[in-house]
Amino acid sequence: MSTTIPVKTRSRIEMVDITSSVQQEVANSGIQGGICVVYVPHTTAGITINEGADPAVCQDILNKLNELVPAGRGYLHMEGNADSHIKASLMGSSVTLIVENSKLLLGTWQKIFFCEFDGPRSRRVYVKVA
Ligand code: ZN
Repeated sequence: MSTTIPVKTRSRIEMVDITSSVQQEVANSGIQGGICVVYVPHTTAGITINEGADPAVCQDILNKLNELVPAGRGYLHMEGNADSHIKASLMGSSVTLIVENSKLLLGTWQKIFFCEFDGPRSRRVYVKVA
């Protein structure tokens, strides 16, 4: 069975650290060793793992994404959020983590970030531990 983590975003483009929520789902599952899949069921949001110690890293990622894929005209998608879809695809829809001793096996500086590209919105993330 999978579980759902609600995520409330506050900006059009934003990275939200969801590591502790995912770790809580791992603890709740009772599984000591295995795989944890974290999946974003949205077309204008994504997920990535990167440095969580210095918030400038996330800001640099967002600034560079805005520079590479600016919002605005020049896209075919009529809804007006083509840049959001492209940024979501660049980040991807899921990450897979290793679970050992009931804990996510992450590097010292790594955090899991929900990536909002068309907020603010109420979003959700699916977690499956097996
Ligand atoms: Zn759209």
